[in-house]
Amino acid sequence: MTTKPCAVTVGSLHHDIVIEAPHRPVAGETVTGQRWFRKFGGKGGNQAVAAAAAGCASRMVGALGDDAFGQFMRENLTSGGVEDRWVDELPGQASGMSVAISDATGDYGAVIVSGTNLAIDKGHLSDAALWDGAKVLILQNEVPEAVNIAAAEAAHQRGLPVILNAAPYRPMSSEFLGLVDILVVNAVEAEAMCGVAVDSLASAEKAAKVLVEQLPSVVVTAGGDGLAIADSSGSSALPAIPVKLVSTHGAGDRFVGTLAARLCFGDDLETAAEAANLAAAAHVSKVFAEK
Ligand code: ADP
Repeated sequence: MTTKPCAVTVGSLHHDIVIEAPHRPVAGETVTGQRWFRKFGGKGGNQAVAAAAAGCASRMVGALGDDAFGQFMRENLTSGGVEDRWVDELPGQASGMSVAISDATGDYGAVIVSGTNLAIDKGHLSDAALWDGAKVLILQNEVPEAVNIAAAEAAHQRGLPVILNAAPYRPMSSEFLGLVDILVVNAVEAEAMCGVAVDSLASAEKAAKVLVEQLPSVVVTAGGDGLAIADSSGSSALPAIPVKLVSTHGAGDRFVGTLAARLCFGDDLETAAEAANLAAAAHVSKVFAEK
């Protein structure tokens, strides 16, 4: 029996290879980078670790290959404080991975290969131990929608709210969106979902107001501008904390994991978003190191 409130994450695990380069290559160009390193990643894994770092118990449902990448990810998951017994190791299959190129300004572009993230076992969702003490479910768009739907239904059966970080954007069924309680999207995803271009705090709030017509609660993150929130009681905007930017890689994941943890502890959405804004600002100002 767990004592701390718990966040359950169902999602992706990727072995990230991060390359630092003066700029990202255009088609046909070869750029000489300064260095590369590997990093634990996948939006699911990152958000589960961020939730644990913010103080709640954190459990994850996922799948890894039986390769060195999978071993590396499991080590990071457990050392990050995440209970991993619902993360399978699938014989003969390749783990999910990504390559990200971070440029001199700290912006990045990435390619992901899903691998075993497409083979998550929905059977884990009926394990009572997974949900013991759980207060919230965290989902993203890097695993099949059928898995997300099954997870959201299992959470609702237990009366838990479902947070969807709709990243990366992909078309989502109304069946799935109907199961989401709190939507968190960045500028790109917000525009894809509602057509409002987000390039300022005011436009983030405008997008949140449009999206909340379809979903109960919405958070639109707008990078260095901050974020906007909308729910049935209205909308508000919160500026970002000014920091010296090192890299935006993983900012959204840190934001979502912290938001979920604070909701587990009973914060309202606005108070939870303030804590997430602070944690994400600290995250973007830190230098990458191999983990
Ligand atoms: P994503 O990583 O999903 O693209 P964003 O870039 O919108 O997400 O960033 C998520 C959150 O991280 C922002 O709402 C903000 O709280 C924080 N953040 C991002 N960039 C900065 C920055 N330059 N300065 C301070 N905080 C930032």
